[in-house]
Amino acid sequence: MISRMDRLAVDLPRPKNPSPNDAAAVQELLGGKFGEMSTLMNYTFQSFNFRGRDRLRPFYDLIASIAAEEYGHIEAVSYAINLLLTGTSKRGTDPTKTPLADTTDARNTRHFIASGQAALPMDSMGDFWTGANVFSSGNLKLDLLHNFFLECGARANKMRVYEMVSDPTARQMIGYLLVRGGVHVVAYAVALEKLTGVEVRKLVPVPELKNDAFPEALQFMKNKEHLKLYSFSQSDYQQAGLIFNGPHPEDGQPLEFVIGHPKTFEPPVLEEEPQLNSPGAENYDPQMFIDMAKKMGIKF
Ligand code: MN
Ligand code: MN
Repeated sequence: MISRMDRLAVDLPRPKNPSPNDAAAVQELLGGKFGEMSTLMNYTFQSFNFRGRDRLRPFYDLIASIAAEEYGHIEAVSYAINLLLTGTSKRGTDPTKTPLADTTDARNTRHFIASGQAALPMDSMGDFWTGANVFSSGNLKLDLLHNFFLECGARANKMRVYEMVSDPTARQMIGYLLVRGGVHVVAYAVALEKLTGVEVRKLVPVPELKNDAFPEALQFMKNKEHLKLYSFSQSDYQQAGLIFNGPHPEDGQPLEFVIGHPKTFEPPVLEEEPQLNSPGAENYDPQMFIDMAKKMGIKF
């Protein structure tokens, strides 16, 4: 089971130049073949389907805890897309003023037609994410090899989207995910090493560029976020720490398994977009809930 927090894994700045086409490019990191929806669903299904846990519990715990982290990553990418789309059409309620006129030149018009100017489960070309992106063979060695490859592919895509989009919102998010994805690359490499004795760590970084080539990644490395793997649980998944240890392959610092979750941040405010009837609900009166909350002692 997952317990949810109304918090974000990364502190996202407001965009300098909100842009639907930047948002469309960032969609690849959400719903592309190597996007966060893929990592989330690959590790989630592999953990549900894991047989022989009595004997192989540390590997199960590792995959399950990384799966939990990926939920926070789809959230972070979605918020970056939402911020890049905020205010990109003309706000107002008069449809005769053609408030969405500029959006016909946007590469992904579904952001304005199928959603309230917000993220969708699709890639940068508007193709919807599919369960065919999930690999869950049931063979531990094969699944770990796949996951190592998936994280390396995800890393390549992040670097390329960074090279496409200069806005600080996107770059802060990508800098964070490059560091955290780097941890997952190392985690699967170390897991393969523990399982087979092969020194997979010698392959990294794949692609060759190090995270410190990306200025936004440096702050997270200074906080040693490139060395820590989190259990995302107070009570469970702790045997992942039996795998995630030893030196980091790039700077030699010790890897650390942490019980719990990383630092969290307030999610950004997403203003209303009335031209899209988002959120609509014009007749709603919050006073009804304010009175009720007082009576029931609920924070409002
Ligand atoms: Mn991720
Ligand atoms: Mn990952």
